[in-house]
Amino acid sequence: MKVLDSRREEPEEFSPLHGNKVYMYVCGPTTYDYSHIGHARTYVAYDVIARYLRYKGYTVFFLMNITDVDDKIIERAAEEGVAPLQLARRFEGYFMEDLRALGITSINYFARASEYMSEIIHLIEALLEKGYAYETSSGVFYNVERFQHYGELSRRRLEELKVHRVEPDPTKRHPVDFALWKKRDTSEFGWDSPWGYGRPGWHVEDVAIILSHVGAQLDIHGGAIELVFPHHEAEVALAEAATGVRPFSKYWLHTGLLTVSGVKMSKSLGNFITIRDALQRVDAETLRLYFLMSHYRSPIDFSWQKLGQAEASLRYLYGALEQLAGAPEADKASGGEVEILTTVAKLRSCFLAAMDNDFNTPEALARLFEMAREVSRLISAQHSVSSETKRQVLSTFRELGGILGILQKEVERPTKTPVNDLVQLIVEVRSELRRNKQYELADRIREGLGRLGIILEDTDTGTKWRQARI
Ligand SMILES: [Zn+2]
Repeated sequence: MKVLDSRREEPEEFSPLHGNKVYMYVCGPTTYDYSHIGHARTYVAYDVIARYLRYKGYTVFFLMNITDVDDKIIERAAEEGVAPLQLARRFEGYFMEDLRALGITSINYFARASEYMSEIIHLIEALLEKGYAYETSSGVFYNVERFQHYGELSRRRLEELKVHRVEPDPTKRHPVDFALWKKRDTSEFGWDSPWGYGRPGWHVEDVAIILSHVGAQLDIHGGAIELVFPHHEAEVALAEAATGVRPFSKYWLHTGLLTVSGVKMSKSLGNFITIRDALQRVDAETLRLYFLMSHYRSPIDFSWQKLGQAEASLRYLYGALEQLAGAPEADKASGGEVEILTTVAKLRSCFLAAMDNDFNTPEALARLFEMAREVSRLISAQHSVSSETKRQVLSTFRELGGILGILQKEVERPTKTPVNDLVQLIVEVRSELRRNKQYELADRIREGLGRLGIILEDTDTGTKWRQARI
């Protein structure tokens, strides 16, 4: 299996640091507002990555932080007149609901920054001792010039960064030096520390959490592409300086940016779409399929129309499964079925090969659609299918769909009774009539069945029927 690390040009063989154990960390939300579909895209991507690693037999520990100590939380809490942690807990609750709704089940542990204050303070102390940090009147800062690898992850040079900054604390040694501890008045939200009352900076929170749960090295560190600088660059500088171990993360995987009609989402532009908004319009599997139709590193330009297309694509896949599940059962497999089973096995290998190539979900999905087409072709060519073929094909769809978190819903399968078989036969005859453009007769059959309480629905993948509810 190959993965493309953000620092490299070419994918490389994936080999975790400790045998078949994979320690994976993804930057979680700052809980001051609802999560939007850009976040959803990132979380779905890592959910699929973790699911696939487990499918491959790795034991994955997937850690995510919750940033519940942050200026944005403090501001919003002040606006609402509530305590910062109270506000943070409320939006954390909504975030967990969103994850559940999206079918994101792969995260093992959520770590709240506010619960790691002594670890954060110890980490800052270690950095001060080793000479990587210094104290000023406004706080404790990380000394970026002291860390020789600063800028490697984001491919930036310190000299170039110097020019653009306006300096709030003139006693800082370098404009890019970032706050590890911000000294604050005791009337504000904060904690006591050896440097006085205050609160930690963002970057140090994540590193303290990783060091306490995983240790000096991760196998995979993930997050959205916009976090590479300064956040991830700072994380590397902090962790490697404190532990003396390199690299902090063996692989860095970043998800591409999600825009709406070419523009980055923002509240002020009114193009901010929450996960909840999206899930009111489509179901979670549709949203997942939509995201996974792009490679996790590629940007996505969101539109409702494209989401609608994803919905139709998912319906097509389910349509093929329903056709298969609903086909009358033959005693033994036909020659055509044996051929289909070979094709399905081949497409399954291609699906897995695509996933092995830096989690190439669009390529993998293309193979899944090909499988659905083959199944539809089989059902149109022959009316009955052996139970063994049904079982094998359906379980392959479930297996591969499970990696992506789609195709897990119950497939409607009409119960086998003489009446059902008879209705199925009439539906097939009617389909034949429609193929021969005898629409008038076909319509009469539909109306006649309608009077008997049997509703027909003509879809792209054939005609479905159901009994009207009495
Ligand atoms: Zn982070």
